[in-house]
Amino acid sequence: MSVSLQERARELYASGAFGHRQIAKELGVSPSTALRYVNPALAERGRKLSSAAKQRRRGTCESCGAETRYNGHGRGTSERCLACAYKRQALAKRGQGETVGMVLTALAERPHRFTEIRDLLPVGSYTPTLINRLLRYGLIERRERGVYALAIQPSESDDERN
Ligand SMILES: [Zn+2]
Repeated sequence: MSVSLQERARELYASGAFGHRQIAKELGVSPSTALRYVNPALAERGRKLSSAAKQRRRGTCESCGAETRYNGHGRGTSERCLACAYKRQALAKRGQGETVGMVLTALAERPHRFTEIRDLLPVGSYTPTLINRLLRYGLIERRERGVYALAIQPSESDDERN
């Protein structure tokens, strides 16, 4: 909001000769804007109401149907829940990391044991860290003790809209 317009509106209002509709005409703004200019308490209440409304806003995750929340701009809600958003992000990153790509490619063929995964990795890699990261991204899953498999089939992710 323009400070000078607001100041002008308050001057006109303070003169007592103008109502907010006349001020709106005078300044070329909408009557509701003029009213907010001359009544800061009203403007503040409006801001609080609209921020409360944003907090209440809910959407539906396009991937899993879970509830999503206000996305921080406009009237929109997030397209995906946090878990699905992270999963997509991880999928998008797949193949960028050479090591990660190698492990996922191997797991796409068949589940692997921890020791097999360890043997795939370059010397100096810490296998538990990598496995934990892939589990957290939802890219792999633990089939049984010490056995890991690809959690998301590539065809599934290809179907997802961008
Ligand atoms: Zn979801």
